[in-house]
Amino acid sequence: MLASEIFAAIVGARHVHTDARTCAYFSRDIFFWDPAETVVAVVAPADAAQVAAVLAATAEVGTPVTVRGGGMSYTGGYVPTAPGTVMIDLRRLNRVREINEVDQYVAVEAGASWESVTAALTNTGLRTSISGPYSGSVSTVGGALSQGVVDEMTGVLALEVALANGSLVRTGSAARHDHPSPFFRNFGPDLTGLFIGDGGTLGVKTAATLALEPVPVAKQHASFAFETFPAITRAMIGCSRLRLPSRIMGLDPKKSQNAPRVGFKSAIETVAKVALASNKLSGGLRDAFSMAAAGRNFMEGVKWSLHITAEGASEAAADAAIDAYRAACLLEGREIPNLLPIALGAKPFSVRGFLGPQGERWVPTNAVLPPSRAEEASAKVLEFFAARRERMQAHGIWESYMLGARPGFVLIEPSFYWPDEVSALHLDHLDAATAARFKNHGASLDARRCVLEMRRDLIELFASLGAAHVQLARAYRYQSRLDPATQQLWHRVRDALDPDRRLNRTNLDG
Ligand SMILES: Cc1cc2nc3c(=O)[nH]c(=O)nc-3n(C[C@H](O)[C@H](O)[C@H](O)COP(=O)(O)OP(=O)(O)OC[C@H]3O[C@@H](n4cnc5c(N)ncnc54)[C@H](O)[C@@H]3O)c2cc1C
Repeated sequence: MLASEIFAAIVGARHVHTDARTCAYFSRDIFFWDPAETVVAVVAPADAAQVAAVLAATAEVGTPVTVRGGGMSYTGGYVPTAPGTVMIDLRRLNRVREINEVDQYVAVEAGASWESVTAALTNTGLRTSISGPYSGSVSTVGGALSQGVVDEMTGVLALEVALANGSLVRTGSAARHDHPSPFFRNFGPDLTGLFIGDGGTLGVKTAATLALEPVPVAKQHASFAFETFPAITRAMIGCSRLRLPSRIMGLDPKKSQNAPRVGFKSAIETVAKVALASNKLSGGLRDAFSMAAAGRNFMEGVKWSLHITAEGASEAAADAAIDAYRAACLLEGREIPNLLPIALGAKPFSVRGFLGPQGERWVPTNAVLPPSRAEEASAKVLEFFAARRERMQAHGIWESYMLGARPGFVLIEPSFYWPDEVSALHLDHLDAATAARFKNHGASLDARRCVLEMRRDLIELFASLGAAHVQLARAYRYQSRLDPATQQLWHRVRDALDPDRRLNRTNLDG
């Protein structure tokens, strides 16, 4: 039997695609990876048993396999690297299996989007303790857990994983053969943690159980403006040390100006209209909301900006938390209208930011830094771009940053933007009017090559500053950065689970 017939017997012929167009579409992520292989088949199983059966079938002949969730990554994680690779498309595994309000967990299939999980929890008064990436309207639970997100991963209680040999395993207390229940992660060694951030190299996640927590009773929002990158970085370091439950997002001058006009435009307008109708606003805040409702930029003149949502089990706790942040930020910053964090809370997911305002291509590079090195990093990153300014301008390339602070680390994430063709993957996730505006952009291979090279240099700069990374896949170095004994351990773990290196084979190899 042909391989495609074997897959068709498992998942149904309608769910196996071997045509050139589909194979090419599924072989490229949000960034370009030229030259790259193309998968020979895209197979879309309906459940965990079918995923395991597909893996067992590929194991028999040693076929390389790549795995795709929502496809919203840009580090080459699911882009094939060997001829004859088969892709497993997980988006049909999108069911919520169980919402357990007593034991406070939700068990979902790995191909469910974060937005669909959030929607399933409406009216329960509960939410997942992991908030999911901004791309969560499209990206999946399995994708984020495989990439590793900048969030507290203790919120993953258990996983169900199909291994390369076709067996299906469970982790945590869900792994018991009697009374299995996914309520406790640390039943024995942390096998759940083994698969988090593995880049899909150790198995295919088919389901995950996420911890639930009560939606906080109270929230307070505040925004602050800073004149320089080092100044906002010092404020983020102060915020990181507070270790309070919160969501913190920092923007550079370009993003401070673009966010209200592009990324958060519709959310801000909606929030502003609701707030104005409530008649509870006064003074400067009312003016800012009126401007936003009219589609005007309420962040005019703001350079670096920090947007904070503090949460509490009571109004008093949220007030105390936001006051602590205010004290940290007002050392060098000034307070500005807080529309952006309110809008972000109201509309936490969007993929519009995967292109610039005029449809420029986009690729971010993350650095997770210890607070002690963050200020130095901010200065070095500014130098990095200043030294390349002329070359960047020659190709129409520009940079913009997203920043973050969490307990124990600071996130610096510069993005490159450049003029280039827009891919079918982008077009599929844009509204019709925006897609029509961008679809005829021409390819700019020189600019793309230049971005690729500068991004590599930027990653090396971050490495020299002691940064860790998420979304490793093929863009960041992992195994070569490990000390020799740990490197050997990593290879032994990988050999034990996938001795032929068939799954996402080159991920984490750098
Ligand atoms: C606009 C935008 C905003 C973003 N914001 C964020 C953000 O806030 N935080 C953040 O961390 N990232 C962000 N990202 C990056 C990316 O979307 C996330 O990393 C996301 O979690 C990827 O999920 P996905 O389902 O799209 O995975 P994919 O892109 O499909 O896959 C990512 C990797 O995981 C592997 N994989 C996928 N599913 C499985 C599975 N079930 N089992 C094993 N391996 C699997 C793939 O092989 C690949 O290596 C953003 C991207 C965009 C476009």
